[in-house]
Amino acid sequence: MSAKLLLLEDDPAIARTVAYALERDGLTVTHSLLVHDARQQLQSARFDLLVLDVGLPDGSGLDLLRDVRNTAPTAALPVLMLSAHGEEIDRVLGLELGADDYLTKPFSPRELAARVKALLRRAGHGNGNGHPAAPAATAAALFHDDETGQRISLRGQALPLTRREYRLLSHLLRGAGRIHSRDALLAAAWGDDSESTDRTVDTHIKTLRAKLRELDPAREYISTHRGMGYCLDLQ
Ligand code: CA
Repeated sequence: MSAKLLLLEDDPAIARTVAYALERDGLTVTHSLLVHDARQQLQSARFDLLVLDVGLPDGSGLDLLRDVRNTAPTAALPVLMLSAHGEEIDRVLGLELGADDYLTKPFSPRELAARVKALLRRAGHGNGNGHPAAPAATAAALFHDDETGQRISLRGQALPLTRREYRLLSHLLRGAGRIHSRDALLAAAWGDDSESTDRTVDTHIKTLRAKLRELDPAREYISTHRGMGYCLDLQ
């Protein structure tokens, strides 16, 4: 089964280049020129990845991204954002809204194809070439999150977590395979407690990793993405 990708891009030249590069790699590409059309596509079919531009004739790709994250069937859909050169604000906002990766225009088709494959692999989609993954348990499947009791177990063993660590790990699990910015993690685990800083997140991730390692020394579950945040890796 080949991976299905939805491309939202209004520049026909860029769209053609992107589609060509990805189809050559065995992916099936559906192309939308408008936010409105992409929204309909997402409602009517299942996709493995969304590549979206920010500036579109009928709105912003960021609005679509927000809706994608807030809608159950697409909440975990991997998203790669194409941001215009110099639009730092779009990139930051996009990552905060839950984009998994971004490329700044102009980019090479080869770079794009590599990023797309990495995202598909991270989402458990085989080797990124459209071949299904071996039926190994993904990391997320090894955890059990008892949301009522606020307890998480790994491989059947309860993790001794503080309240903050529970909220952090629970948030990472729900968005497994995605990079979460420190701000997003702060909001998830600390709410509007203004005493907390990025450093607070780093400290808690450190203790969380130590506790995970106690139960499973062979594997590192949480990866650091410099300048972007943290991710619970699926493989
Ligand atoms: Ca555009």
